[in-house]
Amino acid sequence: MNDLLFSDRGAIEAVQEANFAEMRELLAARHPYYRSLIGNIASLADLPRLPVTHKEHFMREPERFVLESAGLPDEMGIVWDVMHTTGTSGKPAPFVSTTFDFYRILELHRNMMRLRRVRPDDIVANLFPLTKHPHGAFIRVLHAAAAMSIRVVSALPGNPSPYFTLGNKTDEVVRVVERSRASILWGVPSYVRRVLARAEELGADLRNVRLAFVTGEGVSEAARNDLTQAMRRCGRPDAWVSISYGSTETQGGLVECAPGSGYHNPAPDQFYIEVVHPETFAPLPDGETGLVLLTHLRRRGTVLLRYALGDVSTLTHGRCAHCGAWTDRLITTPRRVDKLVKIKGTLVNPDLMVAAAEALLGGREFQFVITEALTLNVAGAADDDLGGKLAASVKSAIGVTPKVQFVSDITQAAGAWKLKRVVELRP
Ligand SMILES: [Zn+2]
Repeated sequence: MNDLLFSDRGAIEAVQEANFAEMRELLAARHPYYRSLIGNIASLADLPRLPVTHKEHFMREPERFVLESAGLPDEMGIVWDVMHTTGTSGKPAPFVSTTFDFYRILELHRNMMRLRRVRPDDIVANLFPLTKHPHGAFIRVLHAAAAMSIRVVSALPGNPSPYFTLGNKTDEVVRVVERSRASILWGVPSYVRRVLARAEELGADLRNVRLAFVTGEGVSEAARNDLTQAMRRCGRPDAWVSISYGSTETQGGLVECAPGSGYHNPAPDQFYIEVVHPETFAPLPDGETGLVLLTHLRRRGTVLLRYALGDVSTLTHGRCAHCGAWTDRLITTPRRVDKLVKIKGTLVNPDLMVAAAEALLGGREFQFVITEALTLNVAGAADDDLGGKLAASVKSAIGVTPKVQFVSDITQAAGAWKLKRVVELRP
């Protein structure tokens, strides 16, 4: 099974289909939520007929997403652990893993480690804090190390609760990393960066550090570069950063095998990924950007089908040029859906159009106004040449051409709205 990542598409798809057939039978008989929906779904090709499950559906009644296990082998009914997913509101929802699922989680983490080229002599520094609710970040690092039979040291940064007494301050965390001779730093990027900065100030010896595994926060290329340089100053000259697109619903994440390689599905036998049109939910061809859906192919506790992870990205089934894997990859940085706006039928990331305008305008005031169309108001005297460049640059960034107008007062031109880079004036 481990070599599935590097076998061909045909082998991957055959295993996915076989696992889904087994999953489908269990769902039809034992899944409170999907039981009535799965009837006309015979194979993965039929999956688009199934409605999308949104986070709200799962959060509202998470217990209805757990398979009924009576009569199944013990491993499929014993609850091994319960992690929690947080949503935009409400209390965290329990995500149940049986013993069977935990064995799959170990396989998943082993594959994540293999894709990231972890070696038998690596030592992981676990820089995730403890949390109030059981959460995959802290605990799965220990399991990942177990799955590879390598060493791990937990630095226990911070204090999640007044009832917890073992939290370490950043200086102590630096010393833990130093004395354990860690080669891999694993945590959220902002905290890994902070540990490296403090290590530099303290003159700590982090000469073995060669990798950072980061997840949980957006990492721009500038931030990646900054983190890479900090590692290379303290650690090895060839140190690099591998970003993971993590989620509670995978109990792991899709990982990079090299910077910019895309986020590899580390367990195609467990996870079927779709990228779909954000409104019709029809599958999009490789290379087109849309909503990311996850279907569990091989779980016995919480099972989700066509589950919207809440992000938009771009899928490919092509072979990875870096590692040679044939597993599917997300090749654009997943972005939260709620950041996107629709203009003239095109989904647009406001950050990209702001960045395009900023690159040409520098400190000059400007504001995008979205009605049925897109307008870019720029403070100052009319300048046709600049206007043309702005329109072309924004079009190239987001695929929509703005109407550029030069105005004396941005705030006035945009009505009563206070000055923001992007305002929406429509129902
Ligand atoms: Zn790769």
